[in-house]
Amino acid sequence: MKKRILLLAGGQSGEHEVSLMSARSVLAALPRDQFDVTPVVISKQGRWLPPTDTVRALETGVSAPGGDLVLHRAASAEGYDAVFPLLHGPMGEDGTIQGLLTLAGIPFVGSGVLGSAASMDKVMTKQVLASAGIPQVAWRLAVRREWAQNPDAVRARAHDLGFPLFVKPANLGSSVGISKVHGPDELDAALTLAFSLDRRVILEAMTAHKPREVEVGILGNDAPIASPVGELSFAAEFYDYATKYTEGQATMHIPAPLPAEVAARVRELALQAFLALDCAGLARVDFFYVEETGELFLNEVNTMPGFTTTSMYPKLFGAAGLSYSELVTRLVELALERR
Ligand code: ADP
Ligand code: MG
Ligand code: MG
Repeated sequence: MKKRILLLAGGQSGEHEVSLMSARSVLAALPRDQFDVTPVVISKQGRWLPPTDTVRALETGVSAPGGDLVLHRAASAEGYDAVFPLLHGPMGEDGTIQGLLTLAGIPFVGSGVLGSAASMDKVMTKQVLASAGIPQVAWRLAVRREWAQNPDAVRARAHDLGFPLFVKPANLGSSVGISKVHGPDELDAALTLAFSLDRRVILEAMTAHKPREVEVGILGNDAPIASPVGELSFAAEFYDYATKYTEGQATMHIPAPLPAEVAARVRELALQAFLALDCAGLARVDFFYVEETGELFLNEVNTMPGFTTTSMYPKLFGAAGLSYSELVTRLVELALERR
């Protein structure tokens, strides 16, 4: 019998449009002889759009307002064998939708509540990975209340780390709200921006040189496998929003031109991180490799990475011999295995 799949796309985060692009690719790739797929686009206001508005959003990339409250629609997800929550960022990749689907008793693709939430929050990720002995840059946490009441204490943490440093909202993606702070005079503006987007902000020491950015895909549940390692190269000072989403600004290299022992270590550390954070199904784990010093730092774990046919994650497994449609089929199988 065909499996009935509910494909959720769009969502409330800044990565709404990216999600719609990924969903279009997945919709086209799930083999029709095995799956009966119903897409539902979640509007930027967090409402589930009816079928006609969903189709229009997928075709045009623009979601209409309106639709049903998520809680109201969760029960109707019950008729499905599995849900593919192809949502990025807060309210999609952070354990919220995963909690709803868990309560409703429906299997879903990707990490559960814990793995999603722990991997979304950059500070929590760092804490968990530090206890697993995984190398990371030096960092400090600051919360909004401190910034309002005792800004000098927050500034002192930045001075501890030294300049340049990075200031980031703890729970975003796509480089939104991230600043590279070159010196003390740029610090307040960076903190004000990050705190306008999140209650929790992370300050991070910059790697000793502009790092090489290498990424690896993980696939599986309790016995996951790692893909070949990929690399992104670009001219910009760091991998900011414009570089990520402007055609031609970044180049993907698969496999990454790395010494074999560095690539092996990337894969090994990524598998350890996936298990330490209790991830499931899939994740793309991103690293900084400092060629000058040979240092390797784990930067972040993305539990629902970009998923168009030209995105890094599917390309990495493509290089391992798994076609895009085999990959999405495998993800649904992994969701059902976790039941
Ligand atoms: P996002 O989740 O938004 O992708 P990241 O933590 O990956 O946020 O940061 C975005 C980019 O900023 C990275 O890909 C890298 O180019 C740069 N960057 C972030 N932190 C550092 C750091 N500590 N040292 C050097 N570059 C960094
Ligand atoms: Mg991220
Ligand atoms: Mg990143």
